[in-house]
Amino acid sequence: MRYFPIFVDVDGRDVVIAGGGEKALQKLRLLAKTTARIGIIAETVGTEVDALAQALGATVERRRFAPSDLAGVAMVFAANDDPHADGVVAAAAKAQGVLVNVVDGPAESSFIMPAIVDRDPVVVAVGTEGAAPVLAREIKAKIETWLPANFGRIAEQAMALRRRVQDAIGDPVARRRLWERLLQGLWRSAVLAGDSRAAEREFDRQLAAAHSDTRVGGSVALIGCGPGEPDLITLKAQQRLQEADVLVVDRLVNPAILEYARRDAVRIDVGKVPEGPSAAQEEINRILVREALKGLRVARLKGGDAFIFARAAEEMAAVRAAGIPVEVVPGVTAAHACAASVGLPLTLRQKVRQFAVVTGASADEDFDLDWEALAMPGQAFAIYMGVRSAAHFCDKLLAAGASPNTTTVIVENGSLPSERAVATQLGELGRAIAEKAIKGPAIIFVGLDWASAGLSRPEKIETYEPAPAGAAGAEQAAAAVPAPQG
Ligand code: SAH
Repeated sequence: MRYFPIFVDVDGRDVVIAGGGEKALQKLRLLAKTTARIGIIAETVGTEVDALAQALGATVERRRFAPSDLAGVAMVFAANDDPHADGVVAAAAKAQGVLVNVVDGPAESSFIMPAIVDRDPVVVAVGTEGAAPVLAREIKAKIETWLPANFGRIAEQAMALRRRVQDAIGDPVARRRLWERLLQGLWRSAVLAGDSRAAEREFDRQLAAAHSDTRVGGSVALIGCGPGEPDLITLKAQQRLQEADVLVVDRLVNPAILEYARRDAVRIDVGKVPEGPSAAQEEINRILVREALKGLRVARLKGGDAFIFARAAEEMAAVRAAGIPVEVVPGVTAAHACAASVGLPLTLRQKVRQFAVVTGASADEDFDLDWEALAMPGQAFAIYMGVRSAAHFCDKLLAAGASPNTTTVIVENGSLPSERAVATQLGELGRAIAEKAIKGPAIIFVGLDWASAGLSRPEKIETYEPAPAGAAGAEQAAAAVPAPQG
């Protein structure tokens, strides 16, 4: 982020527009919405600028700009539509530390103007750092349609009631809940409809309820946050994140997902890095219970789905045992996301009628999986946490009668920009992982033989061919392997 978004207080401050033509007029129209003291300095001033300036009580000085014009000024717009004249303004502003915007000259500016949705006092500013103003306008247009024209009235009324709420409800959590009920319920509709009597009644009702409600208990939501790509979470997950007072976050949760949460939510990282420092499961359970017992809404963020290799059952039991309500919000599990992203169906008509998820994580090398069942033709499965144990997996499956030619696909960082997908044969799985330097997180799909179902290889999946013996052969094989696709 090169441009840091802020809102500048210009109330009663001097703001200068250098210029008197069309560009100056545009800036004047914007500034007309503010309570700044506006001054226009230009040798020639157009009639429209003049008329609007008169109407606003802005000062107009018909003369050449001088650096001394910027003394005590909050910000200046260089809108002369003349690079030389604007350059003089920009240089003077920079020398005096005054914020400057050169119209159509981001390089000379110290700030740039966002696209603005004005529902005063609610103001939405959208910027693309100058990269694509058209995009910013598109977003602005969407937001315009989404916020009713009198939306600002809600904020105004809320402002007027702030003090009463503050005085009546001491507990900040109860206070926020009251606001949520007001802003999402009948009070809001009444305010938008301009029915102040109904709004007042509803406010009194909610305030009384909030008094008796200060002891409401906390709760825990176990939220599946999907495989990483932020769009792959559910609307419900998004709502729960918005409401949460505390976020308890796993390692595989993309930080971009946290953008859905409130800025002031407390964040507790409990990521378990394999072989690294780990917060033990009991400790996580304790944290969930402790925070919920404070009366807070706890969001437990898990990668993928909360019920697939995620120890949600233990957390649920611990939270329930403490008498705290718990809700599970499903997420897109890694196998589904990886399959969708690379275009690999998880069942194949008349060929693959069973699909299983299995874990490759194990404290020792002794896996208690039904190897014969997994090795059966027509059975496909996804191995989670299997990169390190892949070779062992392969041995067990082959010993149970699986064909070494069984189609196997590894998808690393599925749904993320760094995604890679490699197809190999089961017998070469260990070598493929080593030679392709797959580190994970990855899903290994076994048994999804698209060719047998008459499908061609999904484009995003590259094939791994083991290098034949001999240097020349190895070079040829390496050349035959397509480059990884991002
Ligand atoms: N609850 C999660 C799984 C947690 S176990 C879910 O439903 O997806 C962690 C394993 O998930 C990783 O070792 C890896 O096998 C898999 N995984 C998670 N995110 C992944 C991703 N973006 N791409 C590929 N595999 C992923």
